[in-house]
Amino acid sequence: MIRNVVFLILFGVNVLAAQAAPIKMAITVDDLPVHGSMPEGESRLEIAEKMLKAFEKHNLKGVYGFINAKNVDEMPETFKILKLWKDKGQFLANHTYSHISIQKISSQQYIQDILKNEVTLKKLATEQEYKFFRYPFLREGETVEKRETVREFLKQNHYQIAQVTVDFDDWYYNEPYAECKDLKAKTCVQFLKDSYLEFARTKLKESLSLSKELFGRDIKHILLLHIGAFNAEMMDDLLKTYKKMGVEFIPLQEAVNDPIYKIDSKFVAPKSLTFLEQIQKMGKN
Ligand SMILES: [Zn+2]
Repeated sequence: MIRNVVFLILFGVNVLAAQAAPIKMAITVDDLPVHGSMPEGESRLEIAEKMLKAFEKHNLKGVYGFINAKNVDEMPETFKILKLWKDKGQFLANHTYSHISIQKISSQQYIQDILKNEVTLKKLATEQEYKFFRYPFLREGETVEKRETVREFLKQNHYQIAQVTVDFDDWYYNEPYAECKDLKAKTCVQFLKDSYLEFARTKLKESLSLSKELFGRDIKHILLLHIGAFNAEMMDDLLKTYKKMGVEFIPLQEAVNDPIYKIDSKFVAPKSLTFLEQIQKMGKN
């Protein structure tokens, strides 16, 4: 009897805690259709299929994939990855044509790179859908001129910036995964899996606490992922892990409506920082 009561209290408290404050987070996936190293015998299409299957299992529709069409032009067979992404009910948006870092070119060249990417996007998505922009390397420029010029272009062209508030360097795992898998080193793969999930948990907790510190409340988060071999392998486990932490996945369109995304951090530096880290540095750089 007592055990039942204890169970009910614990269970009840858990349910209430989960219902009271779900962590709202939109998933975004960068670098479609090609990202990172790949183990021997796997194909880019299989990687996309695996990731999409995990989204399907968790009933996730409208997940934004940010594309670099240069890879499609150089490897035309990868166009079908974008097509598959769309066929499975997910969305596409702009991540520049060549994935160049803004400090390597002028603001005008950067704008041309954004526009060039639209040629492929227009074949697959409506303007309303694809007009989200993700800066490669999360860098907006090392000068005020570049930052402001590109921002003004985005605004005039009805783009919304898809900021990132949760980033656990998921891309980092793809190369060691390919190496461990090619060597058939199971312990090594398992180590990477454990480390990936642990880091994902830690970085989400950090973003939760930083958003509370900065805004005094939970915000609508935006998670950065990449379309790599290991990310696809881990996607189901990653989504389960986040759900266990109380995450409710929301569309990007809903996340960007959080008023915090209207804040302009004015952050100018050749550095990759999340939106929260940029705000933390406001007035200090
Ligand atoms: Zn990228």
